[in-house]
Amino acid sequence: MNTVLRIAIQKSGRLQEDSLKLLKESGLHFSNGRDQLKAQARNFPVEILFLRDDDIPQYVEDKVADVGIVGENVWIEKQKDNELVKRLDFAKCRLSIAIPRSENYTGLSFLSGKNIATSYPVIVKQFLKKNNIEAGIHEISGSVEIAPGIGLADAICDLVSTGSTLLSNGLKEVEVVLQSEAVMIATPKLEAEKKKLLDQLLFRIQAVQSAKNNKYILLNCPNEAIAKITSVIPGMKSPTIMPLSRPGWSSLHSVVDENDFWEKIDQLKSFGAEGILVIPIEKMIA
Ligand code: ATP
Ligand code: ZN
Repeated sequence: MNTVLRIAIQKSGRLQEDSLKLLKESGLHFSNGRDQLKAQARNFPVEILFLRDDDIPQYVEDKVADVGIVGENVWIEKQKDNELVKRLDFAKCRLSIAIPRSENYTGLSFLSGKNIATSYPVIVKQFLKKNNIEAGIHEISGSVEIAPGIGLADAICDLVSTGSTLLSNGLKEVEVVLQSEAVMIATPKLEAEKKKLLDQLLFRIQAVQSAKNNKYILLNCPNEAIAKITSVIPGMKSPTIMPLSRPGWSSLHSVVDENDFWEKIDQLKSFGAEGILVIPIEKMIA
């Protein structure tokens, strides 16, 4: 039988859309009809399993799935025999401690002897231990943010992205326990054939991620400025230079990192660059 790599992703929820998008941008074609439990890629030996995110680390440990996409928070909390193979740069959020807004927060010692409601008892316990704080942990599975309001706990530890849920429940964020993003996890010691498929997939994901972090840039510049401009945007190997029909001018093509893009544009302009075009890149292979 031909080897197939089984990838578990969230069935529905905050990770689902971006997980599917990543696999599709990596060139996998599959149909994802509603209520499906699994889908077979048509053009790559991959099978996708749709599961609750909380169950994914266990399924990966049990080798029901070879690979899974989950929040780092879930991966750490579950403490399963999983290997982190790639950070995926989406579903960014933080796991934070919040207390009623009316309380005066004086630092971590505030939590001593208090009761903290959370769905992440393992992570909270580690955090308290690391900081030498003795506090009670009250594990609840959902709607953690209402716990202080109904007298169930003095504080909570829950996922935050904008903080609006905290605000509407009269809470304030006081400590960040963990910064999280989606991660790809895998069964340790995958058999060689599967490892090969995973490596191919990781190569594609890398190309998609690099492309997202870079832009293709074209500009016109006086020939005297080429050296200076090249030092700012060296590109993957070196820029492409083509003469313009106007004497003394060239068109220069290169690649620029999204993060220092604006700063570089200002420099390029000061060196005499004109007619700057910036274009998204779909895939990028160094
Ligand atoms: P399931 O039904 O699969 O158990 P769930 O309700 O536990 O889903 P979601 O709310 O869909 O989970 O969140 C899934 C993951 O998305 C979280 O574990 C976390 O990593 C990430 N996440 C959670 N909240 C946010 C947020 N506000 N912004 C960005 N990412 C988030
Ligand atoms: Zn869940």
